[in-house]
Amino acid sequence: MRVARAVLRELVLELKRHFETGTGGTGARRILLLTLEAEDLEGWSECVAAETPGYSYETTDTAWQVLTRWLLPDLPGREVDDARQLHAAPWLRGHPMARAAVEMAAWDLEAKRRNLPLRDLLGGAGEAVPVGVAIGIQKTDDALFRRIEQCLADGYRKIKVKIKPGRDVNMLRAVRERFPDAPLMADANSSYALPEDLELLATMDEFDLMMIEQPLSHEDLLDHAALQRSIATPVCLDESVRSVGDARLALHLGSGRIVNVKPGRVGGLASAVAIHDACRAAGWPVWCGGMLETGIGRAHNVALATLPGFVLPGDISNSGRYWKEDIVVPEFAMTDGLMPVPEGAGIGVAPRRNRIEALTTRMRVFES
Ligand code: MG
Repeated sequence: MRVARAVLRELVLELKRHFETGTGGTGARRILLLTLEAEDLEGWSECVAAETPGYSYETTDTAWQVLTRWLLPDLPGREVDDARQLHAAPWLRGHPMARAAVEMAAWDLEAKRRNLPLRDLLGGAGEAVPVGVAIGIQKTDDALFRRIEQCLADGYRKIKVKIKPGRDVNMLRAVRERFPDAPLMADANSSYALPEDLELLATMDEFDLMMIEQPLSHEDLLDHAALQRSIATPVCLDESVRSVGDARLALHLGSGRIVNVKPGRVGGLASAVAIHDACRAAGWPVWCGGMLETGIGRAHNVALATLPGFVLPGDISNSGRYWKEDIVVPEFAMTDGLMPVPEGAGIGVAPRRNRIEALTTRMRVFES
């Protein structure tokens, strides 16, 4: 298939409420959307880079630069038979979020050309995936309790609480006392270090957490391995795994027991599938995390989460949790903790063109 046109847009979308993690927070997302056009079809993707370099060195602005300067200019006119071809770009180091945008739009395009749901092209199965929810850091325990109560009432099957120094052990203890049976986990976004925080992290064993996510530095698989040897709670890696090479190293070292796979973080869906395969072969469960995506990124995540190794609920919550109105129809809405997988071709949801155009703050078009 020959890509005829690529359209990159930045749009600004207000979150319903400020979302805070151990490395900062955001109230409005600056989101890049990419459309690849071929044979009267459109493939859509969303770049997951954030506004600030708190989660990754990539930001909305670095991704815009890499896409407009390096990845997109030569793409129109190119024959692309397999979306996997677009992952490689061996002349470009790093920038997995920018390159994932191109690769994931190509997957949507290819699935539409074959008239298959993206799930089927990826090798997944099933009509729905179990989902959980991530709750940002709240100012008070009471505010957190109210959020958790609502999420449990909504049916979410995993409650992820963000933690940071000062809002960790005492807060988790209070949460566990209040919700003794809740499927609870904590995400630290690299807020701790060894050896000084070992005792504090080991204390969390008493809270029966499903896992503790990314407690240590985003580039320290060795300390994560030492930590996992010292605590009973499974360690889950997020920021540390940016490629299948990172995943293989983590498996080799025993740097955890679970991986949170985000296609945008690891360079795209082919890389996400490869990480899934490596973890599955080693007996590590995986799940699909979220990056405050619109319905376009969410649709890619839902399709990925249908693969058999995604045995833990993904952070794939309702569109309405983050956005007053999503930019796709239908919006994502789960029932009893299960998110339906769109059955249409490709990502299976339709971008709302008028709304997207109204929200667009800059745009570049590339043609052959
Ligand atoms: Mg995380």
